[in-house]
Amino acid sequence: MENCLFCKIAEGSIPSNKVYEDDRFLVFHDIEPAAPTHVLIIPKKHIATMNEVEQEDAALLGDLHLVAKEAAKKLGVAESGYRLINNCGPDSGQAVYHIHYHLLGGTKLGALVQ
Ligand code: IMP
Repeated sequence: MENCLFCKIAEGSIPSNKVYEDDRFLVFHDIEPAAPTHVLIIPKKHIATMNEVEQEDAALLGDLHLVAKEAAKKLGVAESGYRLINNCGPDSGQAVYHIHYHLLGGTKLGALVQ
């Protein structure tokens, strides 16, 4: 999708610090980490927000959880624990309108809502 930052990162026209990539997913380090481990997991398919997810995306987003699990293992936080977060819409603070999940860990994480 034109003018979508994460589509450009997914296609490689904007560089990223990659943790994992396959034909459907990309995992890369967040540019402004909010925890010692902070990566973003995206499907390469452009879906703007959780509100645009359709039934046909169910397998894709299901498999994204398997990618998240493997990324957590690779990053060494699987056993200590981590948080997987999706922000949807203005009140959540979503800044990039290409669906993504934050995987945060490497420290004891604070309360979910501040
Ligand atoms: P959101 O607030 O859930 O939309 O999260 C967007 C995230 O993307 C933020 O944590 C940003 O730090 C991160 N981000 C923005 N631009 C880039 C980039 O070019 N590379 C990696 N992460 C980015």
